[in-house]
Amino acid sequence: MASIEVDGRIALIDVGLTFPDAEHFGIDLILPDWRRLRERPDGVHCAVITHGHEDHMGALPFFLREFPSVPVYGTKLTLALIAAKLEEHPDITPDLREVEAGERLQTGPFDIEFVGVTHSIPDGMAVAFHTPHGVVLHSGDFKLDQTPIDGRPTDLPHLAQLGDAGVTLLLADSTNAETPGHVPSESRIGRTLREVFEGAQGRLIVTTFASHVHRVQQVIDASVEAGRKVCFVGRSMARNMPIARDIGYLHYDDGDVVELEEVTGTDRERVVIICTGSQGEPYAALSLMAAGQHRQISLQEGDTVVMASSVIPGNESAIYRTINGLYRQGAQVVHRGIADVHVSGHAAADELKFFHNIVRASAFVPVHGEYRHLLAHARIARETGTPPDQVLVCEDGDTVILANGRVRKGERFEPGRVYVDGLGVGDVGNAVLRERGKLSEEGICVAVVQTDQHSRIIDEPRVFQQGVIYEREQGDLLDEAAKVLREALDAAGHGDGDPAAVRRTVSSALGRYWHDRTGRRPVILPILVEV
Ligand SMILES: [Zn+2]
Ligand SMILES: [Zn+2]
Repeated sequence: MASIEVDGRIALIDVGLTFPDAEHFGIDLILPDWRRLRERPDGVHCAVITHGHEDHMGALPFFLREFPSVPVYGTKLTLALIAAKLEEHPDITPDLREVEAGERLQTGPFDIEFVGVTHSIPDGMAVAFHTPHGVVLHSGDFKLDQTPIDGRPTDLPHLAQLGDAGVTLLLADSTNAETPGHVPSESRIGRTLREVFEGAQGRLIVTTFASHVHRVQQVIDASVEAGRKVCFVGRSMARNMPIARDIGYLHYDDGDVVELEEVTGTDRERVVIICTGSQGEPYAALSLMAAGQHRQISLQEGDTVVMASSVIPGNESAIYRTINGLYRQGAQVVHRGIADVHVSGHAAADELKFFHNIVRASAFVPVHGEYRHLLAHARIARETGTPPDQVLVCEDGDTVILANGRVRKGERFEPGRVYVDGLGVGDVGNAVLRERGKLSEEGICVAVVQTDQHSRIIDEPRVFQQGVIYEREQGDLLDEAAKVLREALDAAGHGDGDPAAVRRTVSSALGRYWHDRTGRRPVILPILVEV
């Protein structure tokens, strides 16, 4: 999520989310922290969504709940995917406004131009803001595929036109700035798929992202050519593809598709299953097949699984577990390590150089990607002629001021992340995550101490544990813990009627006990029950 402010009005560029990794115990989603926007609710003028990927529009349901009247601009497919997502949130009535690549729009103080770009989802765009201090161009996620499946390449003439008129500040996708060369065209994948399909004997299963409409189109085309019908499996796949088809982004005949219920009755050599789970997500269709737990689809010797997808950093072990599971079920696995079944959606270094030379911006801020990618992209900008003092590497929380055609860093604010856990948004913070981390590593010990109304201890304390030691072996250790605790409470004079003192005694006595006996430091939870 980025914001651009002109005359006190704010336009947002993308409202995305990110997914938790191993240290985010129990967290479902991670949202940007828009505290700063909350301080000026009337200042938010609109949101422009560059394309339909989760990391660019996934936080909208949460954002629109707080800012219900902010209009959302996007292309047809982007808005269709947003609308499908918002269907699960009937309390939100979004103000979705369709724009087309090539269009120019006036709204409030904003004069916005949309430029079509290629990416791993159709209908992506870059966005140019004409401001009183110069043109700001944000690339969105993009690459320069010269032979895209839909015949809609990144609009280089339009970019050149903007460049001729003068772009002051460019913000551009850095994801592949460290990768040399060019990303091959998406259309190359079709050839590989045909080769694989031609030689395949049993059932064919292809996994890719449920938003990668062009990849799915190529799978459908190769399937039809090989005399097979396709079946969409997995919630997001089964949801998105009919939507993409309805609005003209995906093309197939009704007769080319079979429903999941009909797959078991269909000859194994007559079907291609297109499913979710390319990242080894635990409950996705492919992971269930790999574990032999999918209710309708079982694999057998001679089946082929094509993983037409990338390995997103952090997902390696889950993906490798899936691949091993697929082999155990008897399937052959074709992945990007052994065949051309995937190309990236982000421009590589030489494409970025090309892009910079077309746009010729006088200032540059690299965006999207890890810090090292931003640095690599900053280097590319300098190499292609952007003055070094006008290349600013920024991180979350940085602001950039554009005045009289030059940029400088503005005031920094404390950036944050908002965790979503179940129904809770923002109620789990870093302190809770640290506690969850400790619980997961050391377990918990609960001590129940009964007191009278003067906080005098009136019964033997009882001690329980979970996750510290194996249950069957806990009996003696817990009895001994209770004894040690009783002695400590006696020695401390039962806290002299002060419940806080009793709690402290419980924590230190049991903490020491577990450490001496097991070398572990479980979370100690003293519970005082007044009877
Ligand atoms: Zn993207
Ligand atoms: Zn992205």
